[in-house]
Amino acid sequence: MSGDARGSVSVVIPVFNEEVNVPQLLPRLFAVLDTLDRPYEVICVDDGSRDRSLDLLRELLGRYPERLRIVELSRNFGQHPAILAGFALTTGDVVVTLDADLQNPPEEIPKLLALTDQGFDVVGGVRQTRRDSLFRRAASRLVNRVTMAITGIRMTDYGCMLRAYSREVIDLVNRCEESS
Ligand code: UDP
Ligand code: MG
Repeated sequence: MSGDARGSVSVVIPVFNEEVNVPQLLPRLFAVLDTLDRPYEVICVDDGSRDRSLDLLRELLGRYPERLRIVELSRNFGQHPAILAGFALTTGDVVVTLDADLQNPPEEIPKLLALTDQGFDVVGGVRQTRRDSLFRRAASRLVNRVTMAITGIRMTDYGCMLRAYSREVIDLVNRCEESS
């Protein structure tokens, strides 16, 4: 991707058994990215899906050959290893992560980029009206507290994977041997 004043964007999406969501998400995502007027690539990492996700991604590759790249993992490694596999291939000046299950609206991406353009290294989305159970939300609150205590990094929602990272952060993550 060639450079632009505000830089190019890579979007990384881990995909595990998302056959229902993939055909909806990608056209919606491309529509948003097309409005940005900056170079972009979308990297979908199939994390050993056992449904038709990979077939559907391959079909979409035929439709969007210039904008889409697919990584096929040999088995199911989990969400975070899948994202790291995608990070290793990114070329963008900014890297956005997005869940494939439509819980992270792609329409929010421009807001994240507005902040990375201002120089922020990590920008995280926050889930406002979660449709998860009370138990699930209480568990998230606990995880947020513990994560804050361990890392010393203050984020409102460590579980929301709609995020944007600067190239500097991605390069550091890619150089890190350890995955936690
Ligand atoms: N995912 C993955 N590997 C897995 C489980 C999930 O790549 O083993 C992907 C999944 O397709 C989705 C994202 O990671 O894009 C988040 O998964 P999920 O919605 O299950 O997590 P939650 O929203 O509960 O955090
Ligand atoms: Mg989810």
